[in-house]
Formats: sequence, structure tokens, C-alpha cells
Amino acid sequence: MMISDNIQRAADGTLHFAGQSVPALAQRYGTPLYLMDEDRIRRNIRLYTGMFQECFGEKALPLYASKAASFRQIYRIVAEEGMGVDTVSIGEIHTALSAGFPAEKIFFHGDGKTDADIQYAVSHRIGYFIVDNPEELEQLSREAAAQGIIQKILLRITPGIDPHTFKAVTTGTIDVKFGVPMETGQAFAFVQEALELPALKVCGLHCHIGSQVFDETVFEDSIDVMTGFMGQLYKDLGFAVEMLNIGGGFGVRYVDTDRRVDIPARIRSVAARLKERTEELGIPMPFFLMEPGRSIVADAGMTVYTVSSVKRIPGYKYYVVVDGGMTDNPRYCLYGAHYTVLHADRETPFYAVYDLAGRCCESGDIIQPTIKLPDDTRRGDRIAVCTTGAYNYSMASNYNRLGRPPVVRLSGGDSYIAVRRETPEDLTALDQ
Ligand SMILES: *Cc1c(COP(=O)(O)O)cnc(C)c1O
Repeated sequence: MMISDNIQRAADGTLHFAGQSVPALAQRYGTPLYLMDEDRIRRNIRLYTGMFQECFGEKALPLYASKAASFRQIYRIVAEEGMGVDTVSIGEIHTALSAGFPAEKIFFHGDGKTDADIQYAVSHRIGYFIVDNPEELEQLSREAAAQGIIQKILLRITPGIDPHTFKAVTTGTIDVKFGVPMETGQAFAFVQEALELPALKVCGLHCHIGSQVFDETVFEDSIDVMTGFMGQLYKDLGFAVEMLNIGGGFGVRYVDTDRRVDIPARIRSVAARLKERTEELGIPMPFFLMEPGRSIVADAGMTVYTVSSVKRIPGYKYYVVVDGGMTDNPRYCLYGAHYTVLHADRETPFYAVYDLAGRCCESGDIIQPTIKLPDDTRRGDRIAVCTTGAYNYSMASNYNRLGRPPVVRLSGGDSYIAVRRETPEDLTALDQ
């Protein structure tokens, strides 16, 4: 069994992704190469839009957290499928708008929005700000007033929930850098202050407890905490929260030992909990939002490399060195992320254990340690790293002045360039 059912091994031993030969795609587009299975992206989106429709009717919208993978064609696909998007920078907003994404369905996140960011997003009339802190609130209020509009906002609240995931991707506990905590009373004061600002319309609340969440009850816990807070706001301030956004973070499978999250079942259970809790508390059922990123694009991606050298240090370690590295996938270096690695050209009964190393001038430039590949792996072979659709292209850098790989979109047996390869001229385009 492959890690994802859009990956197959053909009878001749070659790897196929989204029904297409990986060595043939590598031959055509060169390596390193990001592949994106568009049909899988649409299928993943429809899991959310279908379940949201079933559980909430018209009173809900899933948002794609576009930091997971941000380029024009993704925004076009997301718009066609009727989702909204989360953005965190002028760059993401610009990319979305330039792809024709409707401004009113753009949500703007981030704990460090500058005056320039706020000015840009207000003047482009994006739908909603998710306000992280009181300083942002005050600046946004000034900017909206200066531009003569009423800006819709959600307030980011830290619910104090630990999602039992990697530390680097945890955001819901009390001592994190995102949002305003509830336990200290600061969140209540934050809402009170926001309600007094005439250029802002407080539509509701947002929380996000982390990423790669496999725990079955974390989102229900978020609902309990957030509805409790909504009850308090209703009772003490007469404020009825119209929109509740409980963030993103459903886990995806990178390796065989990762559990499978039943997303439709989780959404159904979260919806039931929200209905139950709002009825108990006598508060109106809010418009419901979630922000999946990884679970929309991760298993739609694969990265393909060509082997440059194989180093066998007897009694110590074997390395397979490829033509990419931490520049196109920094996730193992950043937080020890796991990946499934496959030989793209052939299968053999004889394997050796290698570290898959990149070409960057850092000994820590490892894409994945301790992987099994054929024992005769050699220069010129193609290697595929699976499940790289999320937080790979979007985290890529130009360290060592390496150009970023192209993104090739696969759909219905055809392939299209979504982002072309960066050339040496692109790399000097900004230099004076
Ligand atoms: C990163 C992020 C998401 C998406 O998380 P995934 O793990 O990619 O689903 C959603 N909301 C916020 C606020 C985020 O920071």
C-alpha cells in the first residue's frame, strides 16, 4: 500500500503519480520538480464543502489557509470550488487578487501586521481581518476610519488548549505568541474594546489550536471553550457572536505509521457539539468557519529529484545526495518532519538504508534520514518525496542562490506549468 492512493508502481517498476509516469514528468520538466495533483486538491476541498453544506446548510464556509501553498492557480481552483481563503501577508493577498479571487472572501491573519499591511488590505477591501492584538485593533480602526469604511473583523482568542502535536506548530496554549488569552481576562477586555470602535464591525471570534492534529476531541474542546466565552459575552455585554472560526489543523499522513483522520466524521461531530452547546447556553448558532491548509494540498504534492552522488561510508552511513534540499523542503531541518521517500525509476528486492541529503552547504541539509532505497541507487536516478504539497513550495528559499523548482499541475492525464522554474536571471532581478 502506498502512502496515498494517487501514487502507484507500474508493472515496469516506474512510479506513477496522479496517473502519470514520474520519470517521464522529470524528463519533460527537469528536476528538482514539484508536482501537484489538481484532481486531488479538488477532491479534498469537496470533502469540506460537502460536509459543511450537509451539517450547516448555507451558514458555513471553509477557508483554505493559503500559506500551505500560495500561487495563482491554487487561488483559482479554490475560487472555482467556492471556498474562501486565509492570507497572512500583502504577498498572499496580492497573489489571490491577481488570480481574480473575490476580495470579500479573503480573510487576513497574522500577529505582526504592519501599518502598511493594514493600509493595503483595507484599501483593497478584503472581507475580514482576523485581529490578533490590541495594537492592531487600534491601528485598523484608525485606517478604516481614514478610508471611510466599516471593516469587518474577527478577534483571535487563545483558548488554552494543547493539541498534543509538535511544539513548533502549537498555537492554542496560553503562552503562545498568537491571539489574546482568555484565562487572564484579556480576551474579554479585547472584545469590549473592539465593540466600542465605530469603524469596525465585530463579526465574531477566531481560534486556532495548532497543526497536524490527530487527537479526536481537540476541536470539540475548542467548541466548548469558545461557546463558553460566547455565553459570557452574551450575558455580560449583550453581544451575540455571529461568526465562529475554529481554525485549521487536521493531520495528514506522511508515513505509514501516521493515523488517518476521518475528516467528514470529525466535522459532523464538531457541528453536533456546536448545536448542542449553543442551545444549552441559549445563544444563537453562529456562522461556522474552519481553515484547513495542509489537508487540502499535502497529499496532492510530490517532489522529484535526480541523484547527484551516493556516498557509502563503510560501517558508518550511506548518503543519497540529490539536486534539491532544504531550499525546496526545509521541514525536516526545521522540526524533524517525516516523509515517505520512493525510488521513482525502479523497485528491487535489495535495499540499503540511506540519509537523503540536499546540495546546500550545511551539514544539517537533510531532507529525510534513515530511508530505504535500492542498494544500487546511483547518479542519475530519480527520487520522489511524497506528500510535499503543503509547506514546501511556500517555505522554499534561494539559499546558495538556488532557483526554486517549478510547480507542475497534473489533471486528467495532462500536465501544466503552474509556476515556472526560477532562472539565474530571476535571482539577480532585484540586484542593483
Ligand atoms: C497554519 C494555519 C492554519 C492551517 O493549518 P493546517 O495545519 O495547514 O491545516 C489555519 N489557521 C491558522 C490561523 C493558521 O495559522
